[in-house]
Amino acid sequence: MASNSSQPSPLKIGIVGLGPFAQFLAATFVKQGHALTAVSRTDHSLIASRLGILSFNSYDQFIDAHNDVILICTSILSLSEVLKSIPFDRIKGPTLFVDVLSVKEHPQKLLLQAIPVDSDLLCTHPMFGPESGKDGWRGLPIVYDKVRIRNEDLCSRFLGIFQNEGCRMVEMTCEEHDREAARSQFLTHTVGRILSEMEIESTSMDTKGFQTLIQLKDNTVKDSFDLYSGLYVHNRFAKQELKALELALEAVKQKLQEKMDNTLEENS
Ligand code: NAP
Repeated sequence: MASNSSQPSPLKIGIVGLGPFAQFLAATFVKQGHALTAVSRTDHSLIASRLGILSFNSYDQFIDAHNDVILICTSILSLSEVLKSIPFDRIKGPTLFVDVLSVKEHPQKLLLQAIPVDSDLLCTHPMFGPESGKDGWRGLPIVYDKVRIRNEDLCSRFLGIFQNEGCRMVEMTCEEHDREAARSQFLTHTVGRILSEMEIESTSMDTKGFQTLIQLKDNTVKDSFDLYSGLYVHNRFAKQELKALELALEAVKQKLQEKMDNTLEENS
């Protein structure tokens, strides 16, 4: 039988936090033949076994799995607490730490402080989720920053998972990511949350534009409030975008008021 020597060996990937996004990623990792273990606060063993993942509720067995990659998938707000609970001193040998948090400067800083000095750090943000990526990842962007990479081979094998799925690979610094994400992702989620507060619902005479708003609202509220508030609390560029949104609403209101005053004056 011909050997398939060009095929890289599967990676051992350990996931910290097997929430909705980790489960979504894991399905594709398993499909590509990688060996997955997971550790989580909550018992996700049923979902894990359905996905083909070995799941643990303590770090002992998780660390004993000697993972090539440890993937941090916890909520933005819990990262600091989660990192405090990981027994980093028990990890034998250099490991590639990767995070997928939707903000980047915050995990970059905390992970550089926490992980062993001989371990590498890749900060990533797949810019899609269970909804936008449900029909595959082709053309969808993943942002990454090779913060501290000495084992280039391991890093490119991990990034290769996304490349194999046809993702658009976007390399940028964590700071650049946060600046741009505050303008795009945080703004999108904020408008979606505002529409949800307004309780907008489909009508019998929806325009295409209104249907887009309904879809935005529905997609936004599928993500946890922890995720959304993390985009604000741990992205230093988000506050100015919220301010800009408030000012823009005021400016639009003022233009409408002026038009109304002028029109009423002309017609009086
Ligand atoms: P999430 O609400 O942001 O995070 C849920 C995960 O965080 C779960 O695994 C949960 O653990 C864990 N967690 C929350 N509080 C914790 C605590 N106090 N201690 C320990 N663990 C805690 O939902 P998500 O959608 O799964 O997102 C996970 C990460 O991926 C986030 O950092 C998010 O920014 C990022 N991300 C999400 C998407 C997306 O589309 N959803 C896309 C790109 C990146 P349990 O399972 O034990 O409850």
